[in-house]
Amino acid sequence: MNDPIIIVGAGQAGQKAAETLRQKGYEGDLIMIGDEPFHPYQRPPLSKAYLKGEMDEERLFLRPPAYFETAEIDFRSGVRVDGIDPAAHRVTLDDGESLTYSRLLIATGTRARALPVEGADLPGVFTLRTMADIAPIRAALDAAERVAIIGGGYIGMEFAAVAVGFGRQVTVIEAQPRILERSVAPEISDFLQELHRSNGVRLELGSGVARIEGEEAVSDVVLANGETVPADLVLVAVGAEPVAELATAAGLAVEGGIAVDAACRTSTPDIYAAGDCTVFPSARFGRTIRLESVQNACDQAKAAAASMLGEDVAYDPVPWFWSDQYDVKLQIVGLSQGYDRTEIEGSPEEGRFSLSYFAGDQLLAVDTVNSPRQHMMARKVLASQEAPQTTPRQVA
Ligand SMILES: Cc1cc2nc3c(=O)[nH]c(=O)nc-3n(C[C@H](O)[C@H](O)[C@H](O)COP(=O)(O)OP(=O)(O)OC[C@H]3O[C@@H](n4cnc5c(N)ncnc54)[C@H](O)[C@@H]3O)c2cc1C
Repeated sequence: MNDPIIIVGAGQAGQKAAETLRQKGYEGDLIMIGDEPFHPYQRPPLSKAYLKGEMDEERLFLRPPAYFETAEIDFRSGVRVDGIDPAAHRVTLDDGESLTYSRLLIATGTRARALPVEGADLPGVFTLRTMADIAPIRAALDAAERVAIIGGGYIGMEFAAVAVGFGRQVTVIEAQPRILERSVAPEISDFLQELHRSNGVRLELGSGVARIEGEEAVSDVVLANGETVPADLVLVAVGAEPVAELATAAGLAVEGGIAVDAACRTSTPDIYAAGDCTVFPSARFGRTIRLESVQNACDQAKAAAASMLGEDVAYDPVPWFWSDQYDVKLQIVGLSQGYDRTEIEGSPEEGRFSLSYFAGDQLLAVDTVNSPRQHMMARKVLASQEAPQTTPRQVA
């Protein structure tokens, strides 16, 4: 047990796990390895205040550089772990070094999903996931007149709000008949679609993408129906996928994410995982779930740290999430999959309301628009109630 605890991935989860280990009194060696050339930072502002230029870079960082020295965390940036040998309790790094561990936490997050169409690699086509993505996107946005966003999820719609705010002509292309189709009810999609249209965003709903065209740089997105959307900048925002290759190669169970139990243990002794890269069992929702949220990254990382120190842990959160678009704050608590009815309180016309999702009498989730107090109340209600007695339709 004298070997260090090693954390692979220096994002929201990796950072929270390191902090928690120290807060809980772990005094042994602690190494955190991240392949990005930055100290750990928060991603949500990348598609919101930071993209808009309303937030200094310094405020993105979760802790100042001096923290790592004070907390005696051996933080290595710009270094990738490229192999795990579970039998030898050893990781190999892309700089040639190898290190042994007593316990290992995998917190490798997700990466932006690529769009498998012709032209997706043209200059002017971007995805948005990391701090390094922002400077080239901002430069392209400054120069662009027409912006096309492929994917009407949270990142796509937040980007649309920022781009139209900069005076660009913005088109969002979404394959489903409504935006945010996977996570919210039609009432919320309708409200946000109206909000975007009234701000000048064009929505191409129910439209697949056939290819992206351009000579030296992108000039058009060609839809499946043959129509053309002219664009000098294209953001591909079609979701994210877990970074799980290391785990797979090391023989850990990977089932649409690195499989962990309620104590954040993988299928292999002394290897734990937390954050976006995991799938975990939820007694509360009666199924296995994978979440991509700050809430889950932080809370599961805290649980993993406690578990690595031998505490009894049963991680089963009430998930919550937020999105900022224009002056609207959407907050979501719970998971709505499997609902059979909704109830609205407040006034969508006045831009302030909440929508509750039920399966029978069981409250599953609450979405609130510009109603932070209702959101906090809903969190308490959901945390205090018994697990849903339903078998929801699909895995989150
Ligand atoms: C633009 C954007 C906006 C978002 N907005 C919101 C929001 O409003 N609300 C919300 O709740 N959530 C939001 N999220 C999601 C939230 O940021 C993530 O859920 C959270 O960052 C997950 O933390 P993580 O530590 O699991 O993964 P990450 O933050 O992705 O960190 C994983 C780190 O591990 C590194 N890594 C991967 N493989 C290796 C390796 N082999 N060796 C070394 N390092 C490695 C990665 O490069 C990365 O730095 C947003 C995400 C993005 C991209």
